[in-house]
Amino acid sequence: MAQLKIGFPRTLFYFLYYPFWYAFFTELGCEVVTSLPTTQYSLDLGVEEAVNDACLPIKLYHGHVAELKEQVDVMFMPRMVKVRKMETEVFCPKFLGLPDMVRNSIAGLPRIIDERVDLSKGLLPRWELCQKIAKQLEQKGFVVWRAYRRAQKCQEKFKEYLARGIGAQEAIDAAIEGRSCRDPQEFTTDINLAILGYPYLIYDSFVNVGLFEKLGRLGIKPWTVEMVLPNRLEAQAKYLPKSLFWHFSNRTMRAAFYYLHEQRVDGIVHVTAFGCGPDAMVDKLMELEAKNSGRMPFLTLSLDEQTGEAGIYTRIEAFVDMLRLRRKKHENIVSHHG
Ligand code: SF4
Repeated sequence: MAQLKIGFPRTLFYFLYYPFWYAFFTELGCEVVTSLPTTQYSLDLGVEEAVNDACLPIKLYHGHVAELKEQVDVMFMPRMVKVRKMETEVFCPKFLGLPDMVRNSIAGLPRIIDERVDLSKGLLPRWELCQKIAKQLEQKGFVVWRAYRRAQKCQEKFKEYLARGIGAQEAIDAAIEGRSCRDPQEFTTDINLAILGYPYLIYDSFVNVGLFEKLGRLGIKPWTVEMVLPNRLEAQAKYLPKSLFWHFSNRTMRAAFYYLHEQRVDGIVHVTAFGCGPDAMVDKLMELEAKNSGRMPFLTLSLDEQTGEAGIYTRIEAFVDMLRLRRKKHENIVSHHG
């Protein structure tokens, strides 16, 4: 019997959960097919297929689905609701309605698995979710348990690699191929920057127009949300009187607190998607917090369909020049008083 082909668009939750689902489905005997890395073609397709007022990442998701739809038997499109045991924290509404949006916009789709992902209740919610999904593939019993265990191990490896500062795609590839990853080459730098934002903006180099390559060329060490260990990220919750509603917003904001208070960086760059509702608040909050904690330099990079490489490069370069100038001034003052 031919292997069932499961489609996994290479965007949105791909950058955080792909290793888990890859391991799970392959252990169940399926072939997992992803779309190609984002290109102008994926974006054009997405703009064509998605509703006009969708944010850039949602348009892109449509583009990836459209690219993939004819190559697979089933499209995996989980309805992301909650992934933590916190009643009040959910995914952004666009995630909640994603399967409906895609169904309404794109014709000729294959069968969709859009199981609701709510891990806020139950003893082993991830295991229960896996059982439900396996049932849709007519699988049950020990083979599902084995697939679930393998998926967990694969995901743990992936998270460990991300925490060590390994790029997302390299971390994904190493985790699913079961090989180890070397730490990124250490280099001495005078500037450390926290580059904060949602994983589908941070880890897709087409969307962020090669931001990390540019930072590398400028000799800057980037620090991301995923490089903060989970317990340390959690500990930052105390700095906000109340948690935010949205899952990714909480993660991003807590990482900002971590870099502001626990590990000094020279500046914070918030990477955001133009038209993102949740980010309008996160950006303002982050800017205020940066100001309040000793005037930490802060830059917002807003990405949209028209964002050009030159524009991003100029802004980052100007920001870094300002940081270096500031440092020089400070050193001069210290030596003068010394
Ligand atoms: S959090 Fe913002 S960028 Fe992400 S899907 Fe929601 S609206 Fe779009």
